[in-house]
Amino acid sequence: MYDIIIVGAGPAGLTSAIYGVRGGKSVLMIEKLSYGGQIINTPEVENYPGIGIVSGFQLASDMYEQATKLGAEMAFGEVVSLEKNADVNFKIVTDGGEEFEAKSVILATGVKSRPLGVDREEELTGMGVSYCATCDGAFFRGKNVAIMGGGNTALEDAEYMSTIANKVYLVHRRDKFRGDRVTVDRLSKKDNVEFILNSVPKALKGSPKLDALVIENTQSGELRELDVQGVFVAYGQIAQNAAFDKLTELDKGGFFASSEDCMTKTEGVFVAGDCRSKARRQLVTATSDGATAAMNAIDYLNAQE
Ligand code: NAP
Repeated sequence: MYDIIIVGAGPAGLTSAIYGVRGGKSVLMIEKLSYGGQIINTPEVENYPGIGIVSGFQLASDMYEQATKLGAEMAFGEVVSLEKNADVNFKIVTDGGEEFEAKSVILATGVKSRPLGVDREEELTGMGVSYCATCDGAFFRGKNVAIMGGGNTALEDAEYMSTIANKVYLVHRRDKFRGDRVTVDRLSKKDNVEFILNSVPKALKGSPKLDALVIENTQSGELRELDVQGVFVAYGQIAQNAAFDKLTELDKGGFFASSEDCMTKTEGVFVAGDCRSKARRQLVTATSDGATAAMNAIDYLNAQE
């Protein structure tokens, strides 16, 4: 029986673990694949106070080492069932059939990539279509690629790929980018980057590998075929909380309904990071949530004693 089980070991979950064990509680993190969450795909984090510039992977590894050195434990597997039983403890089962019990839980499940939404996307994923320029960008050295989206991820992916690829098309559905002006300005000075605004994807071509993307201008209806071997989708993220909708309330977007206190309507259930309703999804807001959720879990546990 753990005091706190944390589902998800991204920056929010790892921070909860650090605060949980330092608060004298036994803590287990359960993670589907590997610790670190989305941050491991970021080549350079330069907005985490006090660190300067660090790779996302390094920062995640440091957080993991800190949490486990302090005494947090780690288990791998996807949580397929999480129920509150009659004696108000939580029973958790993973896809590997492992069972765990806890007095409280912190859900820090993160988010997943929003799809492009075009035919053959699944078939061509890994064959030219990717959701992570940092992970797959090196396969496109000297080739032409399209980056889809207008947020900071798309802008940063375009900047990164401009150093690897021959030509980078940045395709966005509106006439203004959502991401930071400073990155747009840097990109506009790059010879091998072309902005294609007011445009949406219509078709992916090529077999077995991608060799072209067809886009449509939303103003004129004109179609254009881009000779690209890579398409990087940066359409933001969606929640992946459906497995927990009976345990606690979700908002309309599928995020855990919660405010800045990271509490939920279900006693003993706390939520942290990108998976909950919030206005800003940043590394620093995720770690902030991790601390808040753990401190509230500790107060809850102490009140039960
Ligand atoms: P985001 O800010 O939500 O941007 C997603 C982009 O995809 C938007 O430009 C959006 O267009 C477009 N989009 C979404 N659905 C679409 C669809 N169905 N068809 C066409 N276009 C679609 O996501 P993000 O860029 O991944 O960033 C997520 C958060 O992380 C943000 O808060 C961002 O600032 C932050 N972030 C920060 C850094 C950094 O500070 N270093 C780096 C990366 C990300 P619209 O603009 O028209 O809605």
